[in-house]
Amino acid sequence: MSGVARAGVLAGCVVAGALAGGALAGERADVVWHPTHPRVGDVAWLHVRNVPEAARVEGSVDGRPLTFFPYAGGHAALLGIDLEAKPGARPWGVAVLEPEREPRTARGTVRFVPRRFPVERLTLPRPMVELDPDTERRAVAEAQRLTAVFRAITADRLWRGRFTRPVGGTLPGTGFGARRIINGAPRSPHGGIDYSMPLGTPVVAANTGRVALVDEFFFPGRLVVLDHGLGLYTLYFHLDSVTVSEGERVERGQTLGSVGASGRATGPHLHFGAQVGTARVDPAALLGLALGD
Ligand SMILES: [Zn+2]
Repeated sequence: MSGVARAGVLAGCVVAGALAGGALAGERADVVWHPTHPRVGDVAWLHVRNVPEAARVEGSVDGRPLTFFPYAGGHAALLGIDLEAKPGARPWGVAVLEPEREPRTARGTVRFVPRRFPVERLTLPRPMVELDPDTERRAVAEAQRLTAVFRAITADRLWRGRFTRPVGGTLPGTGFGARRIINGAPRSPHGGIDYSMPLGTPVVAANTGRVALVDEFFFPGRLVVLDHGLGLYTLYFHLDSVTVSEGERVERGQTLGSVGASGRATGPHLHFGAQVGTARVDPAALLGLALGD
């Protein structure tokens, strides 16, 4: 790999400083993408193989830094591809830094595959859609509060193994990414999946984590946000009751509360969302994440 290519890999990445010492020749890092061609809305992950646990792995996709963790004889990092991300090729770069060894690097491009989302037309009572200025301000402040939560990246990985459905039954959740037209006007796309369930149905934690937020917001209603570490969050909206508190550690399958119709909901259901940082990703992709451990 040429020095020019290496500089491209490291642009916008903290590794640049580590390499400023002049280490330019070196081996290529062994990087595998899962899936090979991630779709818009996916939770993808990179596996950097053959890396000792003590090594430092750094990298970025499209200039956004990745957070790596030790995994299966190497290191791995999640990449959330927001449901409104533009399809197409993005540059990525990775560097493996070990004491007394030349850095190993790799770079390439990954193509975000387009995905067709459904269009949903809803009719809702006007007061739920046309907000008075106070309510509008409230909704904006609440959205900002959620974004602030998602921007905080807990350094430890708290989740382990597979993610589990947050409610019983077998019917898949619906509506991820749906472009919503409410009372004839286009609105922001639907960021999660909905499970239609009777009022009071228990809602459980999709994986181990820490309760990052419990509150009652205008659109989401009574809500719980779980922090699974490394920027991964799951969201549970429109709850009837909540049985956990902020800061509490929860195990996979532990009850968080029950299904309700609080906030802007036309009937009892669970809205289940997933975030990798500020990227809104398909919770179904999270449930299918094949990162075994
Ligand atoms: Zn929903």
